[in-house]
Amino acid sequence: MSDGAEQHDIIIIGAGPAGLSFARTLADTGLRMVMVERQPLAVLQDPPEDGRDIALTHTSETLMKNLGLWGHIPQDQVGTIRDAKVLNGTDPYALHFAAEDSGAPYLGKLVPNHLIRKAAYEAVRNSDTITILTERTVTGVETDAREGRVRLDDGTVLTAPLVIAADSRMSENRRRMGISAQMTDFGRVVIVSELTHTLPHDNIAYECFHFDRTLAILPMAGNKSSAVVTLPGDQADAVLAMSAEEFAADIATRFEHRLGEMELVTERHPYPLMGVIANRFVANRFALVGDAAVGMHPVTAHGYNLGLSGAALLAAEIRGAKMRGEDIGAMAGLLAYERQHRRKVLPLYHGTNAIVRLFTDTSAPAKLLRAAALRLGNVLSPVKKQIEKQLTEIEI
Ligand SMILES: Cc1cc2nc3c(=O)[nH]c(=O)nc-3n(C[C@H](O)[C@H](O)[C@H](O)COP(=O)(O)OP(=O)(O)OC[C@H]3O[C@@H](n4cnc5c(N)ncnc54)[C@H](O)[C@@H]3O)c2cc1C
Repeated sequence: MSDGAEQHDIIIIGAGPAGLSFARTLADTGLRMVMVERQPLAVLQDPPEDGRDIALTHTSETLMKNLGLWGHIPQDQVGTIRDAKVLNGTDPYALHFAAEDSGAPYLGKLVPNHLIRKAAYEAVRNSDTITILTERTVTGVETDAREGRVRLDDGTVLTAPLVIAADSRMSENRRRMGISAQMTDFGRVVIVSELTHTLPHDNIAYECFHFDRTLAILPMAGNKSSAVVTLPGDQADAVLAMSAEEFAADIATRFEHRLGEMELVTERHPYPLMGVIANRFVANRFALVGDAAVGMHPVTAHGYNLGLSGAALLAAEIRGAKMRGEDIGAMAGLLAYERQHRRKVLPLYHGTNAIVRLFTDTSAPAKLLRAAALRLGNVLSPVKKQIEKQLTEIEI
């Protein structure tokens, strides 16, 4: 089957943050990896600011340190989330998650996505075992008992005993391999941007549920915050059409001027909100990584965190097989990855979607339930502790 084709050990489709992190995890194994990325090299080297600020758990921070990504992130651009508060409409009562209750000095860190992407590229660029083919698109994938075969738009054919798709939540190659997915289109849009402000944020993240529209304000380094506005799709154009001054004043008003006067310092980036979970994470000599396996609604900030932990699980199976001299693409290892990753992902995926439904439902019973949930969350300390554990991923 490999006649005239370039042979590798692993083919990775997509050099986004998940694909690059996965490759880096295996860089010391001697396995020869080739990555195929549709974007130009200049974008990988210096990704444009995309408005996403990624909340990272302690586990992700540790993984990124171990992989050498963290050292490539300018530390003066890393925000600290010490505490988090959830507000319901104009109700002054807040559900409060304090870092000290979880035994950690902070709940998580906040890093702009373009800096994570740049760091992930920096961490692999000098690797002898990782080749990145840019400005190439995968046009075909097939696997048989012995190997996988990946066809590119320039006619190149790559072969390897294992093919990984890290090609986003709308993964074309997931479909090519016959893996179905459940998709939830929330009919909503999230608009992300960064604003400076006159009052300090004290490292507190806020999630405000304003009936039908939610506003998250996340503490960045310095007197700057990331604003995440989620609203029905038909209202997005009007918000994007506001002048920078009108938009900043609107955010300040909705946030009840807790941070004083605000100024918009980036573009506003809209993203349609869609949750996607693949019904299988693996197929014959094929595995899904990152958003291609599970693309989360961003409200609970799990997407890249799950991409990193999933990549670590899969890499551990591959590393083990290689050390034992076994087939790195064998189904047993892939299924072990699927089992472990699914166990972690399923409750988070469905839990996040349930929270989104509850907190965007404008009916009176839902409003009552929300108010009760916030109060009970503070009173029932096991519930709170469980959520804090999920936020930090520290065993408590
Ligand atoms: C507004 C917002 C806020 C978020 N906040 C958080 C947060 O706080 N915490 C968190 O953990 N996560 C967060 N996320 C999620 C996080 O951004 C994603 O989980 C992460 O970027 C996914 O990375 P990925 O590498 O899987 O996919 P992508 O970044 O989508 O990369 C996929 C890559 O594959 C390439 N590709 C696709 N198809 C092909 C093909 N056929 N051939 C070649 N190349 C191909 C693409 O060009 C792309 O580079 C947020 C997301 C959004 C939208």
